[in-house]
Amino acid sequence: MDAHDQPKPRLLLHVCCAPCSTACIERLQAEYELVLFWYNPNITDPDEYRRRLAEARRYAGTASLTLIEGRPDTEAWEAAAQGLMEEPEGGRRCDACFRVRLRAAAHVAEEQGIERLTTTLTISPHKPLAKVQAAAEQALGGTTVTYLPIDFKKQGGFERSRELSRGHNLYRQDFCGCEPSRIERNQRRGR
Ligand code: SF4
Repeated sequence: MDAHDQPKPRLLLHVCCAPCSTACIERLQAEYELVLFWYNPNITDPDEYRRRLAEARRYAGTASLTLIEGRPDTEAWEAAAQGLMEEPEGGRRCDACFRVRLRAAAHVAEEQGIERLTTTLTISPHKPLAKVQAAAEQALGGTTVTYLPIDFKKQGGFERSRELSRGHNLYRQDFCGCEPSRIERNQRRGR
């Protein structure tokens, strides 16, 4: 048996949205057997939530990958973000938001017997690897799961995700997800 016959290690990929997942999946698929995990209780608008989830399901089908859907615990997210709603995007509310999502991902990885996880979050130019990694280290504490610190925005990752998303006609939102990020988007647009 040569190296090519070895089974690929399994990796849980936390998916923040379908467009971001495209280039991450492309980058990881040769090396890992991927299982996708959707968990985004930060998206508090129900229509926006349904729309993003539908696209994540559609793209998982296109990529022939399993998408595990976590039940959104909005109360847990709101509790984590309490007192931080005035923070700008990139501030302490985002750290708490990353922790909530990655903690859930770690529990699902444990349930599935998957030893490693990573997240599509780092493909965003607004989400530095160091912040996501710090949140992951806290979130995964006490679990058996290891976070793989991959900066997907490197090597043109974000641009590749835009290209792939256009090619698959995926809905790409123009705000991160929580209500403050939606308000920030509206302010940028002068609404
Ligand atoms: S801006 Fe994005 S990462 Fe930050 S708290 Fe809101 S949804 Fe979470």
